[in-house]
Amino acid sequence: MLKRIDLTRDFQKHKDEFLTAIKEVCENTAFSGGPYADKFAGEFGEYIGVKYMTGVNNGTSALHLAMLALGIGPGDEVIVPANTYIATAWGVSYTGAKPVFVDCTADTWEIDPQKAEEAITGKTKAIAGVHLYGQPFDFKAIKEIADRHALFTIEDCAQAAGAEFEGIKCGNLADISCFSFYPGKNLYSFGEGGAVGSRNKDWIDKINVYKEQGCRVRYYHEVIGYNMRLEGIQGAVLSVGLKHLDEWTDRRRVIGQRYDREIVNPLIKKQFHPDNTKHVYHLYETQVPDPEHFLKYMAENGVECNRHYPVPCHLQEAYKDLGYKTGDCPNAEKLAAHCATLPLFPEMTDNEAKLVIALCNAYTGEERFQD
Ligand SMILES: *Cc1c(COP(=O)(O)O)cnc(C)c1O
Repeated sequence: MLKRIDLTRDFQKHKDEFLTAIKEVCENTAFSGGPYADKFAGEFGEYIGVKYMTGVNNGTSALHLAMLALGIGPGDEVIVPANTYIATAWGVSYTGAKPVFVDCTADTWEIDPQKAEEAITGKTKAIAGVHLYGQPFDFKAIKEIADRHALFTIEDCAQAAGAEFEGIKCGNLADISCFSFYPGKNLYSFGEGGAVGSRNKDWIDKINVYKEQGCRVRYYHEVIGYNMRLEGIQGAVLSVGLKHLDEWTDRRRVIGQRYDREIVNPLIKKQFHPDNTKHVYHLYETQVPDPEHFLKYMAENGVECNRHYPVPCHLQEAYKDLGYKTGDCPNAEKLAAHCATLPLFPEMTDNEAKLVIALCNAYTGEERFQD
């Protein structure tokens, strides 16, 4: 069975490098925060090109801390795409602010700037865009709207390490940017990890205090803080991964662009990739008439697929009190109903990619799209 993603191949390939790095951390017992975590944050900041970068314990915390740094709290609203991994919205909710969900466009499947502008109220503080699947959203349009309404911009780059918008790396576009290094992300730790980047030193300083139990000096707590440090072992593993990120991205793009070109079945809709973006193919998402039928067909032919994400944020049980209903974000709802993710990871072979393409093109389905 070809898995949707197989991290064991990556580990086997770089095993010695990873284990040497972990051993060094162990020998120095630099486990919580410390030099290896800080070294990685510095390297990653340099890679992204953003002036300040700090490591945190996961991407969800990165979003939470970014909101806190911007001073977002009870009574505020933050605009979030309805089609994202739920953690983008958690970051808002944890502060006591309210996520306001907006639809994606019908072709890029990224936040619709026009819908974002329509959702602005007197309480709106920020727009949090997500480079979903590794495809940069239209930052220029979002930034123009945010500037006109004096709002902050936030980038959720959890799926977009190495992606670019008009030649600038994602993570160096918005006022503040958030990364996740969850296993399976394009750059990943051996557990949990995250980072926050910004050009604004004060915000990153604030995050450094919050993530350290509210301390600048140990045992002197300025604010009610959190334990959200990046672990030393994760920092060391991420420094190894970062050296390979560009080669991994190139390989993802070779496979993804092949899918883009060679999957030509009208039953399988693909995401549109605007020319002014560099997409890093974190997830190869498609829309098919009946995902359950498609996943079964692929599995019977030896290929595992899965779905990102079957329920849009605004219709999640957790957010039922916000009062959204079906029809509020039709493009996101359609995507949730029809999404199917094809296997794609750097160590996939050409023959495996060929098999995925052949199966997709041979798929006859059971029903057609009802547009
Ligand atoms: C993975 C992910 C997160 C959360 O990151 P964790 O490290 O799992 O907490 C947030 N947003 C998006 C879009 C993600 O894909």
